[in-house]
Amino acid sequence: MKVFNLRCSRHHEFEGWFPSAEESERQLSNHLTHCPICDCSDLMRMPSAPRLNLATESATELVAPNAQAEWVKALRELIANTEDVGPRFAEEARRIHYRETPQRAIRGVASDRDRQELQEEGIEVIALPVPALAKEPLQ
Ligand SMILES: [Zn+2]
Repeated sequence: MKVFNLRCSRHHEFEGWFPSAEESERQLSNHLTHCPICDCSDLMRMPSAPRLNLATESATELVAPNAQAEWVKALRELIANTEDVGPRFAEEARRIHYRETPQRAIRGVASDRDRQELQEEGIEVIALPVPALAKEPLQ
């Protein structure tokens, strides 16, 4: 799963989730993705790194049974490509936002309150439930 910051021709910024970078390019160039604010499909990808908050609840509500393997694979890739900052998530997300530290994708643990405070400061956080099995070795 890839998360990109997208911007429409009217300068609305939002996040788009895609199975892969190639798929995001295909969807954007074919105007299959729409701005959630004005519904226009003239979108461009922004260069900034996404910040991820990996929560620990079960993901069963989000995952169709036959999508489980794909989901776990995508999740592992995501985890491999983000830096785990654990309980320092809110602090690191702020430092990245205010450019006190190199721009990068991070993951960690945040409370609902942390998440709400970050959002009030304009820091976009994705709460991503991680199924327990994503932490187990591949069968
Ligand atoms: Zn828009």
